[in-house]
Amino acid sequence: GVRLSAALSRVAPSQTTAMTDRAIALRAEGRDIISLSVGEPDFATPAHVVAAAKAALDAGDTKYTAVGGTARLKAAAALHFARDLGIQTDPSGVIVSAGGKQAIFHALLATVDPGDEVLIPAPWWVSYPEIVNFAGGTVVPMQTNAAGGFRITADQLEAAITPRTRWLLLNSPGNPTGATYSSADLAALGEVLQRHSQVLVMSDDIYAPLRYTPGRHATLAVECPELAERVLTVSGVSKSHAMTGFRIGVSTGPKWLIDAMETLQSHSSGNPASISQAAAVAAFEGPQDFLRDWCEIFRARRDRVVAAVGAIPGLSTPVPDGAFYCMIDAAPLMDRFGDDRALVLHLLDHGVAVVPASAFGGQNGFRISFAADEAKLDEAVRRIGAALA
Ligand code: PLP
Repeated sequence: GVRLSAALSRVAPSQTTAMTDRAIALRAEGRDIISLSVGEPDFATPAHVVAAAKAALDAGDTKYTAVGGTARLKAAAALHFARDLGIQTDPSGVIVSAGGKQAIFHALLATVDPGDEVLIPAPWWVSYPEIVNFAGGTVVPMQTNAAGGFRITADQLEAAITPRTRWLLLNSPGNPTGATYSSADLAALGEVLQRHSQVLVMSDDIYAPLRYTPGRHATLAVECPELAERVLTVSGVSKSHAMTGFRIGVSTGPKWLIDAMETLQSHSSGNPASISQAAAVAAFEGPQDFLRDWCEIFRARRDRVVAAVGAIPGLSTPVPDGAFYCMIDAAPLMDRFGDDRALVLHLLDHGVAVVPASAFGGQNGFRISFAADEAKLDEAVRRIGAALA
């Protein structure tokens, strides 16, 4: 009879989506639920970006483009890589995809064979392990903790690498913890990686513009230029420009890998949406000053949430340096609830939707997104406090 593929049977449905679905079902029953489970900025897409999308439609920019992106957007992306990440790349070294997610999907599918090991620091972004599983690779979790800023160490990396290691997936600032690697952290990791020429590194910098500690963003391709031929840097406009619906991601890395990703893309989605590409040009080439305001707002929310959560007995949260998530530790409450999934269901009963740490390969806690206005955040944290009192 009919059946699913072996590859698909290795992929688990998203637990983040499961939580969102549950919250939606409860709302449909008339319950008042505040959702702090979303992964997108609550700001409107900048007006000049929206205008560029409309202008593209009016100009008849509605046909196939080059598979890997228009020349215009590749040039704008090269500008972005240089200006915002310090990575010098030629437009020919850039690929444009349907979101950062598709770039990651294609890069892993193009390089991972059954038995290949992929190192993923945990807590991780939910899609990383599932894409590796789909590709037939073996996920090698690398546990991190709040005390260590949710960063892996050079020793940990050295111990985890084997001859079968194909990739290290790095995400800084990170979802779901806000983990941010300094240039010293990356130099130490780079030293280890130099000894293992079989290892590629994904530097997922999609949250780089959303950082709350002054100073330059550190990224592996810049900190360790010796590794440049093995580093794929993924970026985009989804998070930085509140353009999650446009589905545009940009990546740069070694030519053989970019070419391989383009080959897959030519048979999967083809070119990214033409209108979205025109909008992304405006995002990269247009004014960036709104970002300072957004970061200021996010930082104020972060501080507010960290303080309020810290005042609830049993909960603690480190201060995330970037992105818009807090990974809250609830270990002292596990005796009472059993596990973090039960805790999260209890919070949902009290009107707040969050995601358990276990959904991200972590444990004994939950993630909240502070991409919500202060009134909502205050009320959500009040409800969490009441639910745990
Ligand atoms: N990488 C990380 C760490 C993310 O959190 C996300 C989105 O949630 C993505 C990549 C993909 O972003 P998009 O495909 O929306 O550009």
